[in-house]
Amino acid sequence: MSLVLSGTGVSRGIALGKAHILRRGQIEIPEYVVPKKYVKDEINRLKKALVTAAAQLKAIRKHIPENTPADIGSFIDAHLLMIQDSMLSDEPINMIRQQQCNAEWALKQQRDMLVKVFEAMDDPYLRTRKDDIDHVVNRILGLLLDESAHASDVDSRLKGAILIADDLSPADTVLMQHFGIAGFVTEFGGPTSHTSILARGLGVPAIVGLHSARSFLKENDEIIIDGRAGIVLADAGENTNKYYRRRQRQEKKRINELKELKGKPAITNDKQAIKLHANIELPEDIPAVRKVAAEGIGLYRTEFLYMNRDDFPSEDEQFSVYRKVVKSLKGAPVTIRTFDLGADKQVDGATSNKQAGTNPALGLRAVRLCLRDTEMFMPQLRAILRASAFGPVRIMIPMLSNLTELHQVKQLIDDAKLELDREGIRYADNIPLGGMIEIPAAALAANQFAKQLDFLSIGTNDLIQYTLAIDRIDDEVAYLYEPLHPAVLQLIHMSIRAANKAKIPISMCGEMAGDPYFTRLLLGLGLREFSMHPSALLEVKRVVNSSDTRQLEKPAKKTLNSARQSDVEKIVNSMNIDIDA
Ligand code: PEP
Ligand code: MG
Repeated sequence: MSLVLSGTGVSRGIALGKAHILRRGQIEIPEYVVPKKYVKDEINRLKKALVTAAAQLKAIRKHIPENTPADIGSFIDAHLLMIQDSMLSDEPINMIRQQQCNAEWALKQQRDMLVKVFEAMDDPYLRTRKDDIDHVVNRILGLLLDESAHASDVDSRLKGAILIADDLSPADTVLMQHFGIAGFVTEFGGPTSHTSILARGLGVPAIVGLHSARSFLKENDEIIIDGRAGIVLADAGENTNKYYRRRQRQEKKRINELKELKGKPAITNDKQAIKLHANIELPEDIPAVRKVAAEGIGLYRTEFLYMNRDDFPSEDEQFSVYRKVVKSLKGAPVTIRTFDLGADKQVDGATSNKQAGTNPALGLRAVRLCLRDTEMFMPQLRAILRASAFGPVRIMIPMLSNLTELHQVKQLIDDAKLELDREGIRYADNIPLGGMIEIPAAALAANQFAKQLDFLSIGTNDLIQYTLAIDRIDDEVAYLYEPLHPAVLQLIHMSIRAANKAKIPISMCGEMAGDPYFTRLLLGLGLREFSMHPSALLEVKRVVNSSDTRQLEKPAKKTLNSARQSDVEKIVNSMNIDIDA
């Protein structure tokens, strides 16, 4: 009998193959007292496991095939750093000494403590980093308990198989790619887990969060996974198999066609040239930008330079990173967003470290924090200005809510220029200054902002959060987080109109810009510039190049006056009727 299971599709694509079930399950952690005279041996046992775990990861890192997204190496490096960090060595060693407990128990206590810290974080990305702690600790525990669990679950005999696991670590994912695994399904994890990000980067179909998958599926079951719909089918029957094989061929064709779009202009059938830019977080993202030949960077989230470290990056360090990005773009524009730190993205030593309020998203963050902590902000402004001497740079301010903030930033930029002039340091003339429209007040006052800025960019991730009063990282209300809410669409439309009226460019750099489902709607609302994760760019270009804006305006405007979201959806579906968006 055929079986259909559903989870969260996190990496699109169809895979057909035999299931291979990874039964690592939960590791049973023993607890016992270590006699005093053996405490030293127990500590050495832990140290040895840490060294071996690091050696295993280093060996896996060497396996990383060329042309693999940069993320993979950095995720494994992050695990290596965790193993080498005192939180996983010094702390458990102290516990063994003080409590006379066994190494496994010390490690478990430390893991539980760290997981709690991560679970309490507001930022969804940081919250899922608890999975990394688990992956690393499980590897060490496996060694302590002498289990081969993490040695080679994924091996060459599994070529073409579909892995069904509780969870997969980035290291597993590297091995998966190395051994030609066709796809995977995990019981845990969400769309922002490292494993999901890697799967998308590698183009491996993947489904996560399919609870109890391992109790429904058996080893060697013939299964099909649809990584977009999040569906697993077992024993599907010949007709269904045929259907999915056809879908798989179409998918391959689609991917090849997308590759051909690289370097081709994004232009609608009615000859509207559309700018498609990329969002980046670190210079390591540049190869992905090149891979799709994006015309520039529409959002460089510089705060990532500040995260995962205890100290501030100095002006010189920032300058050399920004210069590297600017030079590697070879004349294409780089939109550097000033730090969007604060609230959930804390940095040691910054003003932000003071007690955050009960609503961190409404607190001291982004431009508010920069204006409060000018000792942190000025070096960034100076570094950006210095980098502008090496290629076209645009400065973008996040979270503007009123014009006073804008005037203060302008004043600080003028001060920074004056300082550089005095020191005889070069920077470009006429660096465009833009602002993000992320707060409803900014969208409502977009006319005012547009008069005083050189460009605008709509940050839909926050705009939706603040418009609908939906915490963007709270799973409980995720069902209400709706880009197609008519109120959100009206704010987007108002912003576009304001920019057009002031004759300045307007872009969108929130997630909505990278979802091909929304491309035609946004074109219809008048948007001509989009910035997105590089992996989405060719897909969006495909939709742009098959669209005619003249046919999109009317239905798009109709969405603004729709009473219900379902009405908006119907309209958008009909706009997309001829495409697979
Ligand atoms: C946004 O809010 O849409 C945006 C692009 O900024 P971030 O996701 O970094 O908050
Ligand atoms: Mg934002």
